[in-house]
Amino acid sequence: SDERENLTYTVFGQAIRELAQRVADDGYEPDIILSIARGGLFVAGGLGYALDVKNLHVMNVEFYTGVGETLAMPVMLPPVPNVVDLSRKKVLIADDVADTGKTLKLVQDFCAAHVAEARSAVVYEKSHSLVKCDYVWKRTDQWINFPWSVLPPVHRSGEAPKENKEAL
Ligand code: 5GP
Repeated sequence: SDERENLTYTVFGQAIRELAQRVADDGYEPDIILSIARGGLFVAGGLGYALDVKNLHVMNVEFYTGVGETLAMPVMLPPVPNVVDLSRKKVLIADDVADTGKTLKLVQDFCAAHVAEARSAVVYEKSHSLVKCDYVWKRTDQWINFPWSVLPPVHRSGEAPKENKEAL
């Protein structure tokens, strides 16, 4: 259908508190939060404050090639978090949405080999996701508009966006 799930920054603020409450109620006390950039950065920052976890790591996972074509599988971009740092840590993986679940699967597989325990928290999980996350705020099968990516990038005032520059 054409229906979209529209997440606003205001509702996102409530969602993060509720997601954190689920983690806390479950008794999971992560040592570190591992965010999957870029969407996961917002989620990880919010969970970090709500769960009082100061140790945040970032993992860059790319699902697209430079020319905008989707890869068959997501790939991890360097630098990869230091395995020695994480070997005895309880990790909470944070991302915006588990859609196909391929991105989270990649990070979970990395964690399975390198950390003591890993659980995952997402704002949204779709029903076809191959990964079932431990903590989910809301389930949907619609396309989600996230507040941080719904608008195009800004450009210098008075200047056309990059795509249109050639035409002017
Ligand atoms: P995956 O398919 O590997 O689970 O999702 C990879 C990434 O694609 C997500 O982290 C997210 O950035 C993006 N993505 C997947 N589904 C949606 C969606 O419904 N809306 C938006 N805005 N991005 C999505």
